[in-house]
Amino acid sequence: MVVVIKKGTNEDQLQNLKEWLRSFGVEIHESKGEYETILGLIGDTSHIDTDLLSSLSIIDSVTRISEPFKAANRKFHPDDTVIEIAGHKIGGGNFQYIAGPCSVESEEQINFIAREVKKAGAAFLRGGAFKPRTSPYAFQGMRGEGMKLLEEAKKQTGMPIVTEIMDISHLDLFENVDVIQVGARNMQNFELLKELGHTDKPILLKRGLAATMQELLMSAEYIMAGGNNKVMLCERGIRTFETYTRNTMDISAIALLKEKTHLPIIADPSHAAGFSRLVKPLALAATAAGADGIMIEVHNDPAHALCDGPQALTPEQFKDVVEDCNAIRNILNK
Ligand code: PEP
Ligand code: MN
Repeated sequence: MVVVIKKGTNEDQLQNLKEWLRSFGVEIHESKGEYETILGLIGDTSHIDTDLLSSLSIIDSVTRISEPFKAANRKFHPDDTVIEIAGHKIGGGNFQYIAGPCSVESEEQINFIAREVKKAGAAFLRGGAFKPRTSPYAFQGMRGEGMKLLEEAKKQTGMPIVTEIMDISHLDLFENVDVIQVGARNMQNFELLKELGHTDKPILLKRGLAATMQELLMSAEYIMAGGNNKVMLCERGIRTFETYTRNTMDISAIALLKEKTHLPIIADPSHAAGFSRLVKPLALAATAAGADGIMIEVHNDPAHALCDGPQALTPEQFKDVVEDCNAIRNILNK
């Protein structure tokens, strides 16, 4: 970190500042010029609040050289993280499909969809039991009952299950869940992230609606700082000025996050698109950009789905997407 001190700062002020900075465990390299004094901070600066530092009256500018995320940073962990869940590996060249309805709606619905997506090539079954809906009057999910139905579908098909946690007080219900999803709306629920850091469950962390890539990485850092390194990041579209799509799929984030972090990157084209026609092209683009897996919403009867029907694929459409994404994977692996 490079800190430029304003001209006219007296020696006492400078000494006080240096003492305070040293209390964070960093070494200071000082360079006194004719017009300004520059402090080069060496060591782990992640505990220094750059906004607070910049706001001090004697500071001209603060520039971070190293990134504020450490555990998630590829610089400190060059090899891809590979997460193995119930025999299925994700990351480091291992690619998986996660598929299922937006919400668990009934025993017949979840079991039927689970069987169909498994046949089509999905390793993981997704389904929401606790649903974060914009309207309090919309279907809120089957909650505890939905969790039981997911577990039953897991028993019947052998598929590991992925489902969203909305409140840490529900954690006990997630004992048999294989991957805990943190939804876009909770990406910066830091208390939730800290608690998940103390579990040993793989976490699928979705990017917030208006979160930068660095904010997503810092949220992953919250989980990892607690000791849980099994984190997968999920690009699910961000909010932009565009209104033709539900969100804007940030394909560049997939390629760029692969550079910045060793964590697996999952793409969710369903929530980016908002309508089913666009799911396939976005899934293909995400696969080509280097995603480690794709999560897609699939419903037996999209027109009557209780949540996110317009973006749901039928099992046949999902099968077609899997075949074409596999073809892209084969080209990449040549
Ligand atoms: C979901 O996966 O069903 C969901 C609610 O996603 P997001 O948090 O990305 O909106
Ligand atoms: Mn959904």
